[in-house]
Amino acid sequence: KARVFKFGNKQADGNGTMRNLLGGKGANLAEMSAIGIPVPPGFTITTEVCTEYNDLGKETVVGYLKDEVTEAVREIEMQMGTKWGDTNNPLLLSVRSGARVSMPGMMDTVLNLGLNDEAVIGLAKKTGNERFAWDSYRRFIQMYAGVVMGMKPESKDDVDPFEEVIDNLKEKRHIELDTQFTVQDLQDLVFDFKDIINKRTGRQFPTDPWEQLWGAVTAVFDSWNGARALYYRKIHGYPADWGTAVNVQAMVFGNMGNDSATGVCFTRDAGSGENVFNGEYLINAQGEDVVAGVRTPQQITKLGSQRWAELAQVSEADRKKEYPSLEEIMPEMYQELDGYQKTLEAHYRDMQDMEFTIQKGKLWILQTRNGKRTGAAMVKIAVDLMKEGVISETEALMRMEPNKLDELLHPVFDTKTINQEDIIAQGLPASPGAATGQVVFFADEAGKYKNTILARIETSPEDLEGINIAKGILTARGGMTSHAAVVARGLGKCCVSGAGAVKIDYKNRKFEVDGRVFQEGDWISLNGSTGNIIDGKVPTKEPELSGEFGEIMALADKYRKMQVRTNADTPKDSKVARTFGAEGIGLTRTEHMFFEGDRIVAMREMILASTEKGRKKALTKLLPMQRGDFEAIFEAMEGLPVTIRLLDPPLHEFIPHQLAAQKEVADQLHISVAAVTSKVAELHEFNPMMGHRGCRLGNTYPEITEMQATAIIEAALNLKKRGVKARPEIMVPLVGTVSEFLEQKRIIQETAEQVFAKRKDRIDYSIGTMIEIPRAALIADKIAAHADFFSFGTNDLTQMTYGYSRDDAGKFLGIYQNKGLLTSDPFEILDQEGVGQLVTMGAERGRATKPNLKVGICGEHGGEPNSVAFCHRNKLNYVSCSPFRVPIARVAAAQAAI
Ligand code: ADP
Ligand code: MG
Ligand code: MG
Repeated sequence: KARVFKFGNKQADGNGTMRNLLGGKGANLAEMSAIGIPVPPGFTITTEVCTEYNDLGKETVVGYLKDEVTEAVREIEMQMGTKWGDTNNPLLLSVRSGARVSMPGMMDTVLNLGLNDEAVIGLAKKTGNERFAWDSYRRFIQMYAGVVMGMKPESKDDVDPFEEVIDNLKEKRHIELDTQFTVQDLQDLVFDFKDIINKRTGRQFPTDPWEQLWGAVTAVFDSWNGARALYYRKIHGYPADWGTAVNVQAMVFGNMGNDSATGVCFTRDAGSGENVFNGEYLINAQGEDVVAGVRTPQQITKLGSQRWAELAQVSEADRKKEYPSLEEIMPEMYQELDGYQKTLEAHYRDMQDMEFTIQKGKLWILQTRNGKRTGAAMVKIAVDLMKEGVISETEALMRMEPNKLDELLHPVFDTKTINQEDIIAQGLPASPGAATGQVVFFADEAGKYKNTILARIETSPEDLEGINIAKGILTARGGMTSHAAVVARGLGKCCVSGAGAVKIDYKNRKFEVDGRVFQEGDWISLNGSTGNIIDGKVPTKEPELSGEFGEIMALADKYRKMQVRTNADTPKDSKVARTFGAEGIGLTRTEHMFFEGDRIVAMREMILASTEKGRKKALTKLLPMQRGDFEAIFEAMEGLPVTIRLLDPPLHEFIPHQLAAQKEVADQLHISVAAVTSKVAELHEFNPMMGHRGCRLGNTYPEITEMQATAIIEAALNLKKRGVKARPEIMVPLVGTVSEFLEQKRIIQETAEQVFAKRKDRIDYSIGTMIEIPRAALIADKIAAHADFFSFGTNDLTQMTYGYSRDDAGKFLGIYQNKGLLTSDPFEILDQEGVGQLVTMGAERGRATKPNLKVGICGEHGGEPNSVAFCHRNKLNYVSCSPFRVPIARVAAAQAAI
């Protein structure tokens, strides 16, 4: 079994398909070499060796490797014409880690291995560049001590001893830049560095190149089990036995003078997706200099350089003189690089992110990989590549990361304009988008300024209207499934939740973060995609649903088998969802309709009534309002199916719990405050989630179901009169026994027949149920005998299967995830292992009774790609999700079907 795979000189032992064995970087280095791209020669020690290393220990594995590595180093020497360990003509090496996926937490690259007090003199002589040689040496000592000898500062606050010495010397010499150091300065630094290492670690800096090399190689293996890597693996669920590979490679130098350079480039624009070659470079620089931001890098292409100059307001004359492109100052090198970028993109059939170095007029490619990109670029690049005939339709679809489509649907910040110091605090990215506005603290004041950010400790259903008006929502408490988050996502409204550092003081209308105070009316901005809370105004731009977006959506529709519906409570949401391609409504929550305007008054009147007669009187007031809502929704959906769920939440949610607000209610309804408070006490439940809610309400107060059924049927008949087809599907929530479903069904049917008789006309409608209590899934075969359709309410189903209260789980879910006790939040990603069994069983048993039973899902999971795939496998007819997740679900359903 080979442990070492060589590459270089247009050959390679491995290739690009061997990611698992060679790691991503190693596989691509091999592939590039094999297709004739000039990569510095080197070799990859496999990921399997990493596992061996962990099992058998350092001595044994180094013993195993010795011959193969020695042989591979000989090969590099031959190709480079230098000698490892030679003092006159030294070969220098880099050691780079590389797992099968790119992973923060792995060891940083060490450059310039092989230097010591003698070799540095040889290198200076050979290159005729003393400064270069000593600069390389001091960088090497610094890097090696940091990453191999454990001298890297642990946190931001610790001082890096080497940087401290550098700063002191700069101060003493009255200079600002590294490049201003003289050879003598660099020699002093080397001396001081070695001294510090010796004092701190009690060890001498290794002078023997082999000792340096084995030290670096084993440090890479050790980093696989370092704390950061372990944590990263845990949260992503990557197994320990993947291991990391080690890439050892001949050094090439971009810092040998003005005929040398180093840079990073992309075959297409990673931000917009535009098909333009672009990137940045620095003359006379090495390694990380380009990204480190010490010097301003220059643009690679002339076009890029001109665009940059326009933004930076640099004149054409100055641009040419001070910031010329590589294309202009090294035209031959540029032509060669342009050739390789074309070759590599065609070869990998995707946008590439490449690193290159020019050493004295010779171009080397150091790395290539599929480039990271924004949602917009993801869509455009895939569609363009498909049109160019490079990839097929199904490949274009499979290139989508469905969740990233969300970025395209919301206003966005120009992130370039945000300064790090303006970020006040960080919360959860609960609902993507960008919002800028003046802070208000009360929902009913959301309209106080033109643009507002509603800041709350937490939100309640009563805040809905305010949430709708505000540009963005900030909460100090609550997780990704908190009320604010769910509502905001549904509305496509930017929301940052659970920002614990934000201390809200309602009384004084201000909030405080780390000593900074923000008053009502102060401007702040929220980035719902990152969770950043930013001081002041940040300009936003409206998203453009470009042509390519439409093309991807059309493709998705061509391949998917499941239908995609939306969860919508208002005509506005319904319309938005239709523009996103919803094929019906899978869930209308009727309770939200009762919070608007003076409806809440009638609703409270109904709840506070002590007799059936009193309740009926109040319900008569609610009936026309509800009918109007349904008419508007049916109309917006024009003949598409609309599933309406009967009232679900416990009644106490509709009555205020503070005395002051209770007084107001009493005044409005002309009853005593005592009557209100005693009703509140009467409705109090120890466990409302499992209390008097769902069909239990409709079965104890049948008049509520009667009113809602009347409103639905009358609305549909009204539309029929106007020539608009309505397809109501009435859904009974929280069913656990057949009899409680049958009782609701009876009430609905009798009500409908009465309306039909009165109106002398009929419409088609169906009656189905939610499957959201585990017992319902268990007896699904019996329920199916009477139900026209099933819809899995996976929010409640998850809550009841785990026994996690949705409203309280925020307190421990985060801790559970950090401790690895849960890999994900089951309210966000459907637990296929457990809760999923109930879905599978419910669908199977239901269809055993009624083979054509229509089955869907309407929980938050309906828009989560993994869960959508699960629904596809279980042959569900549709998924239903919030309007802004409809495009995501369409693509996820297509991917599941491919
Ligand atoms: P990362 O995964 O963080 O990009 P790399 O292994 O690509 O780490 O190395 C970091 C930097 O070191 C790169 O910018 C690259 O240019 C430089 N580098 C790595 N190996 C060599 C080499 N053999 N010759 C010159 N520069 C190198
Ligand atoms: Mg790199
Ligand atoms: Mg429910």
